[in-house]
Amino acid sequence: MHAGVIAVQGDVSEHADAIERAASAHGVDCTVTTIRTAGVVPNCDVLLLPGGESTTISRLLADEGIDAEIRDHVERGKPVLATCAGLIVVSCDAKDDRVRTLDLLDVSVDRNAFGRQKDSFEAPLDITGLDEPFPAVFIRAPAIDAVGDDVTVLAEWDDNPVAVRQGSVVATAFHPELTLDSRLHELAFFAGQPLVTTEHAQ
Ligand code: GLN
Repeated sequence: MHAGVIAVQGDVSEHADAIERAASAHGVDCTVTTIRTAGVVPNCDVLLLPGGESTTISRLLADEGIDAEIRDHVERGKPVLATCAGLIVVSCDAKDDRVRTLDLLDVSVDRNAFGRQKDSFEAPLDITGLDEPFPAVFIRAPAIDAVGDDVTVLAEWDDNPVAVRQGSVVATAFHPELTLDSRLHELAFFAGQPLVTTEHAQ
């Protein structure tokens, strides 16, 4: 499996480690590539969009032409896991003109909503598809304040959706990559339909 971590900004190495752990838990050989320029996404089977700063990430994706490649990846039914700022970037409405949303996930988000209450916290979260609560780390996290009909809510915190799925896109307001627990990465990439694999360039 060829996993690509969008690496224009944000917590990239943590996602790379997490997808390697998740793949090895499923006995899958995984090559991880960090992506800063166009031309790499088409060779990836799965993509990860890390946390960081959504205004910066979305601008760099557009500047580099990676945005269209991510849209194409999802159109082909290939999986994406987007966390925190990544969730904001894949959403349809960030209520902030500085974020150029990819419009891949029919949710609207309120940036830094949890952050206004408390900068950072960890909470045990019940997530559909996982047997035990997940240690969810929230850092200036967005709140999802509206979800479309095609979106499934996988987890809520304080009556807000904080983990959602639409087709092959899974997104979380928290940071599953910041713990050693790779179950959320497994849920995004290994639970569901078989991976659509790509002919990899040499
Ligand atoms: N507050 C950040 C943003 O709006 C997201 C924070 C994060 O990814 N931890 O982009």
